[in-house]
Amino acid sequence: MGGSRRDMPTLYGIVQYWRGRYDEVFPNLKAAYIGWGEPFCFRCGWLAPVDDTQATLAQIWNSARGWLDRAHLQDLALGGSNGSENLVPLCRQCHDIMDPCDSRAEAIAYVNDGVPVDSWWQMHTDAIFNSEANLDVPHKTKIMRDVYTRWVEQMRMIEAAKRGNPQAVKRLEKLLEWARRTAEREGRHFPVTIDDLRGSHPV
Ligand SMILES: [Zn+2]
Repeated sequence: MGGSRRDMPTLYGIVQYWRGRYDEVFPNLKAAYIGWGEPFCFRCGWLAPVDDTQATLAQIWNSARGWLDRAHLQDLALGGSNGSENLVPLCRQCHDIMDPCDSRAEAIAYVNDGVPVDSWWQMHTDAIFNSEANLDVPHKTKIMRDVYTRWVEQMRMIEAAKRGNPQAVKRLEKLLEWARRTAEREGRHFPVTIDDLRGSHPV
């Protein structure tokens, strides 16, 4: 990505642009269901872990920086602008796998074709990032990548445990025990058991 981020509108500036006109361009946007009070990825609908009780929508959305990128539709290097009409909030995962688009239409199709966020990933990030809301942007980016890498590994382990791999079952039991203890120490209830994970994936 070339160009200067200083020329770019804030996340809230981008949202202000889309609020009145998203349904013509992004008909399946999460805002249609939940409104604008919680910052979300325009592609997968992942909710950023921010304090949504802040006084204004501007504060709420702008505090999601680092969890949500200001992604260019038409790539900057391929002639795209830094204007709000060419920008959307995307989570790290959706932005990382987005190929540079030479047309706005191609990028809009990419956003609209997004599969809704995996509910395990949403629960996982809610639990992990809730207490980390005050990190600076580069730190958020790094921690998000680290957590995602570990999560992908854990999902592989769960799949192996479901297939009956004994080492995977053992590691998973240990992990769940750790999660349960951590939750108890923080006064939370940890509802997931190994039997839940052996059952179906929540939708
Ligand atoms: Zn996303």
